[in-house]
Amino acid sequence: MTRGIVHLVGAGPGDPGLLTVRALELIASAEVILHDRLIPKGALDGARADAELIYVGKEGGGPSMGQNEIERLLVEHGQAGKRVVRLKGGDPFVFGRGGEEALTLRAADVAFEVVPGVTAGIAAPAYAGIPVTQREVASAVAFITGHEDPDKPESALNWAALAAFPGSLVFYMGVRALPRIAEQLIAGGRPSNQAVAVIERGTLPGQRTLVATLADVAERAQGEKIRAPAITLVGSVAGLREQLQWLEQRPLHGRRVTVTRARAQASPLAARLRELGAEVIEAPAIRTVSVEATVPSLADYELVCVTSPNGAHELFARLRASGRDARALSDCHVAAIGPGTAAALSQHGIVADTVPERPVAEGLVEALGNYRPRRVLIARGKQGRDVLPDALRARGAEVDVVVLYETVAEPLSPDVAQAAADSDYVTFTSASTVRFFLEAAGADALQKPRIGSIGPATSEELRSHGSKPDFEAVPHTPDGLLDALLADVAHQI
Ligand code: SAH
Repeated sequence: MTRGIVHLVGAGPGDPGLLTVRALELIASAEVILHDRLIPKGALDGARADAELIYVGKEGGGPSMGQNEIERLLVEHGQAGKRVVRLKGGDPFVFGRGGEEALTLRAADVAFEVVPGVTAGIAAPAYAGIPVTQREVASAVAFITGHEDPDKPESALNWAALAAFPGSLVFYMGVRALPRIAEQLIAGGRPSNQAVAVIERGTLPGQRTLVATLADVAERAQGEKIRAPAITLVGSVAGLREQLQWLEQRPLHGRRVTVTRARAQASPLAARLRELGAEVIEAPAIRTVSVEATVPSLADYELVCVTSPNGAHELFARLRASGRDARALSDCHVAAIGPGTAAALSQHGIVADTVPERPVAEGLVEALGNYRPRRVLIARGKQGRDVLPDALRARGAEVDVVVLYETVAEPLSPDVAQAAADSDYVTFTSASTVRFFLEAAGADALQKPRIGSIGPATSEELRSHGSKPDFEAVPHTPDGLLDALLADVAHQI
């Protein structure tokens, strides 16, 4: 039997981008994953389909699995020869009980390895624009648990020593103890006007930072209703935030933007939005599914039109399934409806001969100019419009349409529908996303948000449902939509 191993892995402070490469590798190969509550959203997306995922955290302050039980499970799976990941928020050895778990594993003779994570005590201040050390300001930094009651006689913390510590004091788990922490540090000799930063939900959407002084931090944190998880940093470096804050300066900071594209296509747009500071709500209203279809011999066609990126991928999947490849198109003139479709075709080795400036059927007909092909094949989805085949037939072409996929509704959970309705922007990238989003979320979902449309067909669909876009992308691409959204935000300020 292969020997089991337990990896004690830090998942970072919450931003999925701060998961380490090693953490992702181990998550992808683990057979058993025991995880906490404070791990980044989507951290387990890459886990094996057959991995056993065991949640061992606390739900909203409710009962958590006891530490003994967690350690028992780690030993049990390790001894059973499994590859186990114990995934914890931040770093496993910083207030994460990773040391205790390692001791238990060693005692049970189960192999273990440790993967450090980005700890909240450094990451949350960094996202708030606060370096925990700074030449001539703070030459040392202390990590402290604020969890214990500073009044307890047996307190492990030496408050006088902490007050005298020549550097930044970083408190974990200290929100409730804030009044006592401030009091004790002042009593120990820290100046009452020293800067304190409290960073709530560091690196997560909705991160909030309060900068106060030791004298008023407790009162102000209560006034602002600061809640766990939060890091409290005491030290002059907190004052640097005034000059160094960067998170809040991103153009979409604090904006919630809903993306309604199919999940498979949403990621690049969602990633760009997040990079610009937006909180993205993924509300995929549609999904494409392949339909049974045979692609005829392409040598019989002079012109082949592809009307969506998905159509391009589906076309090549069929060609490959029947033992063909890009050479099947070698004698054809290939037209793509727009830049996205052209990019999808080029992934399969085909550079489109015609790409219209306006990525709509009318634009494509226009772009074909005087070209009068005799036989035309249009590869498209089931719900496609008839503009293109009609126009080509009107020019005397014999037109065949091969339907490769259909767009179906993707149900939205009530939570996601509500989050979309509460967002600042809802973006639509096709007429079908409009139709299916409204079906799933209801017409009221578009009452509050501003609405962005990728182009005329999408805008028309919005109007037909009694709504209207606040802005339309030029060019009619996801990048164009992003630019239009940025312009709208700038205009709103
Ligand atoms: N091992 C973790 C700490 C676990 S203790 C680490 O290295 O980060 C839990 C405490 O960590 C919370 O009470 C809070 O003080 C802090 N914390 C964790 N995630 C946080 C976040 N995203 N923002 C602010 N504080 C966080």
